[in-house]
Amino acid sequence: MNVFEYQARSLLGRYGLPIPPGGVATSPEEARQIAERLTRGPFVVKSQILAGGRGKGRFLSGFSGGVRLCEHPAEVEEVARAMLGGVLVTAQTGPEGRPVNKVLVAEAPRIQRELYLAILLDRGRRCPVVIGSAQGGVDIEEVAREEPGALHRIWVDPQVGFWPYQARELAVRIGLRGPLLNPAADVIARLYRFFCECDASLAEVNPLAVIENEKIAVIDAKIGFDENALFRHPEIAAYRNEVVEDVREAEALKAGLNYVGLSGEIGCMVNGAGLAMATMDILHRYGGEPANFLDVGGGADQNQVTKAFGILMADPRVRAIFVHIFGGIMRCDVIARGIVEAVSHAKPKVPIVVRLQGTNFEEGKAILRQSDLLIRTADDLADAAQKAVAAARETR
Ligand code: GDP
Ligand code: MG
Repeated sequence: MNVFEYQARSLLGRYGLPIPPGGVATSPEEARQIAERLTRGPFVVKSQILAGGRGKGRFLSGFSGGVRLCEHPAEVEEVARAMLGGVLVTAQTGPEGRPVNKVLVAEAPRIQRELYLAILLDRGRRCPVVIGSAQGGVDIEEVAREEPGALHRIWVDPQVGFWPYQARELAVRIGLRGPLLNPAADVIARLYRFFCECDASLAEVNPLAVIENEKIAVIDAKIGFDENALFRHPEIAAYRNEVVEDVREAEALKAGLNYVGLSGEIGCMVNGAGLAMATMDILHRYGGEPANFLDVGGGADQNQVTKAFGILMADPRVRAIFVHIFGGIMRCDVIARGIVEAVSHAKPKVPIVVRLQGTNFEEGKAILRQSDLLIRTADDLADAAQKAVAAARETR
């Protein structure tokens, strides 16, 4: 789970990281008031979306830059007005962009150098890795691609922990020497402590900046958390409702369904994560694109199946629904009755293809056939996937 920059700032602030003061606003007036309360300009106004590349982004309205520097509070208000309610497109959002509902307004220190600092898990080595570069800023992806030597890595043995000398070593390697050495090592060590204590999966500061008076500042932060550990951090878990941007995912979260929104046109309802992934693969194989990943779970009840149908049908992308259920613990005849009831209740306007396999699957299929609903049944996986792909094409 990734959080917004303004949330990341407040979490990192508690770990003593040097963050320029600021606040978050939902209206242009509020943005101006925040700037007026800050002791000095210039100010920076930053669109809050869960994607990077904002500095180089552009709004659908034509307004350019998801991050803008302003000299006066009046200008902050004007820029916030242009951003709020707009849709920002960046290299990471796809062409449809992301809506901007909040802006961060902060003091904008003059930057002398932009560096890069990140901590993530190195799955290959099974330990955290701290990455630094003297060449931070908006072009870090290009630097990583064209000049991999410019990224310095320090692997941390989780049993031993992160030693102060390792932080100093990285600081030196990214050019933070002399009076900057100790403050830089302190920032790196604090970020590491945050990373471990909060069960983060990513903590990226880009840019980490050298500002006036030989100081260091966290200018932008991107943080992701391991969802399996959220139960240990109720405060961070509370951000969850806010950070689910996809309305479909927000609905599924409420219904307790395991759902990930995708951009294809076949709505999938499957039990079991493995089967759900296999279903997506086979759809691809026959030229279809799933509109979602949805695992209704082993013990999905009538209510959840109806809610799942509701989410699939409310999605304008969905041109066919593919129900793929393996009846192991639950019998296929029971599942079939559930589907018939859910479909008669929800009345989908798109074709439905169902494949049931497992205990009593013949009875299940008979129940689906005998219902006068337009449910197409299939025998094997390939047959089912082809029928779903064909159904989606017809509706198109
Ligand atoms: P991103 O493009 O989404 O990563 O957004 P960033 O917050 O990293 O901002 C992009 C760029 O805008 C940074 O690399 C800086 O060059 C500039 N910028 C952002 N905030 C500030 C600030 O407070 N002061 C100054 N001088 N520049 C800033
Ligand atoms: Mg950045």
